Amino acid sequence: MSATDVMTPSKLKPMPVSQPVELSPKPSLIGLTREEMGAALKEKGVADKQIKMRVSQLWNWIYVRGVSDFDAMVNVSKDMREMLKTHFTIARPEIVEEQVSNDGTRKWLLRFPPRGAGRPVEIEAVYIPEEGRGTLCISSQVGCSLTCSFCHTGTQRLVRNLTAEEILSQLLLARDRLGDFPDREAPQGTIMPAEGRKVSNIVMMGMGEPLYNFDSVKTALLIASDGDGLSLSKRRITLSTSGVVPEIYRTGDEIGVMLAISLHAVRDDLRDMLVPINKKYPLKELMDACRAYPGLSNARRITFEYVMLKGVNDSLEDAKGLIQLLKGVPAKINLIPFNPWPGTNYQCSDWEQIEKFADFINSAGYASPIRTPRGRDILAACGQLKSESERMRKTERLAFEAMMIANHGED
Ligand code: SAH
Ligand code: SF4
Repeated sequence: MSATDVMTPSKLKPMPVSQPVELSPKPSLIGLTREEMGAALKEKGVADKQIKMRVSQLWNWIYVRGVSDFDAMVNVSKDMREMLKTHFTIARPEIVEEQVSNDGTRKWLLRFPPRGAGRPVEIEAVYIPEEGRGTLCISSQVGCSLTCSFCHTGTQRLVRNLTAEEILSQLLLARDRLGDFPDREAPQGTIMPAEGRKVSNIVMMGMGEPLYNFDSVKTALLIASDGDGLSLSKRRITLSTSGVVPEIYRTGDEIGVMLAISLHAVRDDLRDMLVPINKKYPLKELMDACRAYPGLSNARRITFEYVMLKGVNDSLEDAKGLIQLLKGVPAKINLIPFNPWPGTNYQCSDWEQIEKFADFINSAGYASPIRTPRGRDILAACGQLKSESERMRKTERLAFEAMMIANHGED
């Protein structure tokens, strides 16, 4: 599909949506560390000597088997299951809507119940299948407190951080819907082999700045990569940041996933305008943090995202500056065609200019894939969904930007 090829929403195949299994204010066991899960069980009277065993049973059922109700846990005693049901939940969020694009891209609009104070929140997750892999794009916040001038999310206020449960639930739900968990009838101990999985990669490139929600993102990603659970390799998880420098160091030390930087400009004056966090953490500090990122090599490179804005950052001078800036950093460059939104003053660079820019970068020895927009039909619907629902229900309705589609990660 070419960059300008937009499928009409009428070609969408709507999928049946699930009913909420349980809409309850009970705390979820999803997204707790082992220690937290153990403490939660202890508080409900589980004997000390049983805790470790119970936690590993639950961990297996929740993350390896992917069950979403306690009754499915056949090797857990009935009394224990009743206790779990009384005090906790492992229900998925409600699927408000599921859409499947002609090219296989899927989008889910999910609603999380309010736990404690507050209102339910809605977010979207997008799945992009490709040759040899499938990438799930995940959100970390509802809205964003940063104000990047070309980003639609940047025009919306931050509603709140997502919890580790809500971040992980996007992955669990996608795996449910794509058949990535073993059948209920499969023998105990069955694990879906990594090669056969539909969701082989995840990218934190949805809504929000993940490094402004560090603790929940860290917990969720460590659970997603836990070898006795979801066991997604850290090399297949990419976290994208606008450049929160202190937390880039922490990401390297404490999470260890692949890093993507929303660069978009190679001069401080321009980046101050496009990505205002640059005023706090200018390019030099950002690049120092990148150079210090642990484990970099030619096989483990940092991705630099660069949105192509017509007449703003797309000259060959900029391309030259980019090569200079990245000198010495194992890097790959993702050129993202700008996805316009109503009210924006920016335009996407001409296709010819994007190609010239890419050629320049390629000739300097960098792979610079231009992100082919995927699932444009769903994206179009994505914008519609948002305004329609805001009119209709006035609940917090959130939509991803083109970035989710245009800018998913790579191996
Ligand atoms: N907040 C994080 C992660 C989410 S944004 C970050 O900024 O990195 C994911 C990517 O999409 C970022 O590179 C972002 O700059 C880019 N993006 C945002 N709006 C876009 C648009 N309208 N068109 C193309 N890319 C966009
Ligand atoms: Fe927030 Fe990222 Fe959008 Fe900037 S580009 S406003 S950090 S979501």
